[in-house]
Amino acid sequence: MSHLSRKTNLFQMSGRTINRVSLAVVSTAVAIGLGSCAPPDEPTGAGDSPEAEVATETGASPTGELQVVTTILPVTQFTRAVAGDRAEVSQLLPYNVDPHDFQARPEDVQRLAQADVLVINGLEMEFFLDDLVANAENPNLTTIDSSEGIALISNEDIGVEGHSHGHSHDHDHDHDHDHDHDHDHDHDQSEAGHHHAHGEYNPHIWLDPMRAMQQVENIRDGLIAADPDGEETYTANAAVFIEQLQELDAEFAEMLQPFAGQTFVAFHDFAPYFADRYNLETEYLVDVPAANPSPEDVRRISETVQAENLKALLTEPAAEGQFVSLAQDLDVGVSSFNPIEIGSSPASLEPEYYFTVMRQNVKNLVEAFGGSAQSSLPSFLRLWKPQPVAMMPQTVRLRS
Ligand SMILES: [Zn+2]
Repeated sequence: MSHLSRKTNLFQMSGRTINRVSLAVVSTAVAIGLGSCAPPDEPTGAGDSPEAEVATETGASPTGELQVVTTILPVTQFTRAVAGDRAEVSQLLPYNVDPHDFQARPEDVQRLAQADVLVINGLEMEFFLDDLVANAENPNLTTIDSSEGIALISNEDIGVEGHSHGHSHDHDHDHDHDHDHDHDHDHDQSEAGHHHAHGEYNPHIWLDPMRAMQQVENIRDGLIAADPDGEETYTANAAVFIEQLQELDAEFAEMLQPFAGQTFVAFHDFAPYFADRYNLETEYLVDVPAANPSPEDVRRISETVQAENLKALLTEPAAEGQFVSLAQDLDVGVSSFNPIEIGSSPASLEPEYYFTVMRQNVKNLVEAFGGSAQSSLPSFLRLWKPQPVAMMPQTVRLRS
């Protein structure tokens, strides 16, 4: 069973980034909320904030249900879709916390100590798990890495590569070079939230519906391995969800086909897999949400907007307001592409949320390209879409 080796993989992953989280320093600091730059010493005791709604069910359920702990929103959505009513699925992170800045809390150790299964996105997205899994000392914990077997894109190969990022954050291609002299790392750790610089591969696989399908299959197989009696349920539930993902993909392929080869601008580097799937190019202001853009970053984005005749910059919940003045300077709108990393309510943890957000994302993207996102029109009526139109979309916000 390959699942048995997954935990080992996680520990190997842990070794590389183990310095990023130390339980000793996290007892009070929880980076809550959309402002990922909150000072780490802010006395935000875990549970003090009404915003930080953490599922309270820890420990074996009285019904003997499989206890599954998940990490980030898409993984939770996919796992809930597959598990249905058969397992108790709860997310480790409060739904409204930026995973790039999450700092583990003592009670998180407890939750892992009492869980049967841990489902992760993988690809170092869960750098905060490093000490947690070890400290949980749970020999029965099975870890499902949902990224297993998925075709990956190296961070070196994506939009922010090759550009000067100033001194504010870790740069992707530093990973191939000497880490010892890297002043960026020092900065990361002293900076609020010690933001997570992404690892060797870009972790945002869930934003490509086809790769999301593979994640769902991995989760299905992992749950079956952990709970063989549930095979029929997990298989049937996964099939339903996968069919929905296929429909979504077909819809997006049709909507985005007119813009093949064009570049869009998003805030942090979350879209390489999505762009890869739909033959688009991307440019990002920064590599992780908490990073500070350099003047060079701003210049690069400005050039792209003008060269591509973009109608809007695509911000995201973790970067609320950050694109506003730049958009004004460039005389374009601000829209949103939500990478599904931070939820807006507990409902964000539900499988349906993935489809709702992704459909809104693609609608906003089509409009940012200057098209009209009315996918219900017959395709021959939409042929004019690639043509720039005189009307400029006004500021659109995806906050519900
Ligand atoms: Zn991200």
